[in-house]
Amino acid sequence: MMTQSKVSEFVNKQRQFFQTGKTKNVEFRIETLKRLEQAIEENKDPIIQALKADLHKPGFEAYFEIIGVLTEIKYALKNLKNWTKAQKVATPFHQFLSSAKVYHEPLGVILIIGPWNYPFNLIFTPLVGVIAAGNCAILKPSEIASHTSSVIADIIQKTFDPSFITVIKGGVETSKELLSESFDHIFFTGGTEIGKIVMSAAAQHLTPVTLELGGKSPCIVDDSVHIEYTAKRIVWGKFSNAGQTCTAPDYLLVNQKIKKDLLNSIKEQIQKFYGDDPSTSHSYSRIINQRHFYRLSELLKDGRILVGGDTNLEVLYIAPTVIDQVSWKDKIMQEEIFGPILPVVEYTELSEAIHLVNKQPKPLALYFFSSNKKNQESVLQSTVSGGACINETVMQLTVPGLPFGGVGASGFGRYHGKAGFDTFSYQRGVLNKSFLLDLKWRYPPYAQKK
Ligand code: NAD
Repeated sequence: MMTQSKVSEFVNKQRQFFQTGKTKNVEFRIETLKRLEQAIEENKDPIIQALKADLHKPGFEAYFEIIGVLTEIKYALKNLKNWTKAQKVATPFHQFLSSAKVYHEPLGVILIIGPWNYPFNLIFTPLVGVIAAGNCAILKPSEIASHTSSVIADIIQKTFDPSFITVIKGGVETSKELLSESFDHIFFTGGTEIGKIVMSAAAQHLTPVTLELGGKSPCIVDDSVHIEYTAKRIVWGKFSNAGQTCTAPDYLLVNQKIKKDLLNSIKEQIQKFYGDDPSTSHSYSRIINQRHFYRLSELLKDGRILVGGDTNLEVLYIAPTVIDQVSWKDKIMQEEIFGPILPVVEYTELSEAIHLVNKQPKPLALYFFSSNKKNQESVLQSTVSGGACINETVMQLTVPGLPFGGVGASGFGRYHGKAGFDTFSYQRGVLNKSFLLDLKWRYPPYAQKK
């Protein structure tokens, strides 16, 4: 564990580096993004291996994590000059002979705290925004995904001067030490309870925060869908990374008219994706640790298991599982599942499903499957969620032009693409006036007539 004074030293060095003004230069930012891109390209194999060691993550899914970051870098490189341009705004009549512009200024030294589920992507994607906006960064990856954490530290150490970008490895105590320092922005991805701790620590320094939290993201299916495609997209979104995805569909709300057909198709897709025994599949991840394994095993006691249900503590395996006949009072419907268990609830009228969703805290994502445009509009209009997909799951976060983040209990603040640039910048409004003329009437003493 790092001592408090060592942590302070890192922060102070970055503050000094920031004050040199080097990071404000747009060419420097472009150069930095290119170096990051190259470092990631050169380290694809170690990253994929580390993700395998931490989560038994299939190579394809690990590659997906990496591609997500590379796409963000490319998007930032393409748009950065445009984003950083000062924007002219109109001036009111009484400010004639002046111009007004909005400048996008970097904030300074940013702290990024990451989780273990997409441990590479969720440190590097926010870092792209941090660099694009012209800041320094301290990265604190999750100690739970220890192999990935080490690879991240290695890449950053080899690529950047620590007074510009550095990694501080460690667990909760290190995180607390970091949080006692003064930063210019804290970007946190993790659980809701820890989010509250981060926010109250940040409040001591009046530091703005972005909280990327979790929650129960609903997946609603009406009776106008293509059954097979719907099943495939749900199974993929739910069971990739063994369900340990913040945006995974947490529970399924299905129209009772198609429930039987959809569940049959979901069962079939699970078998097609992961075989008769998913524990032998190369495409299926493991649970991150024993704590989460025990937590998830408890949830298997609710309802009636339709598919899966097998577990193996030794290899931290929990089969892709579908559970029917759950009640809202069951634990599985009360907390974020964050694992490979899909509870199913049926409804008769769409309004009933909307009502059930709206009774829960605001989720990070909402998925609605329907071919009916009116129903699509109705669900989007009458629910609240950080992001949403129609006829798809999870893929919203692969579009750099879509701001990503939560609302209410699932967090606040946005990143990806321009939203990331905006989060790590502040807007400085500047009025610039000419000396050509100076109207006397604005100054005291004020005449009554004025
Ligand atoms: P977590 O909150 O336990 O840990 C996240 C980070 O916080 C880690 O780096 C950890 O070291 C640090 N931390 C833990 N306890 C702390 C404390 N008391 N004080 C200060 N720092 C502390 O989250 P996790 O278990 O790594 O991730 C799972 C959660 O993250 C789920 O709820 C999931 O939905 C959420 N998540 C959200 C997103 C998103 O983009 N919104 C993405 C991934 C995960």
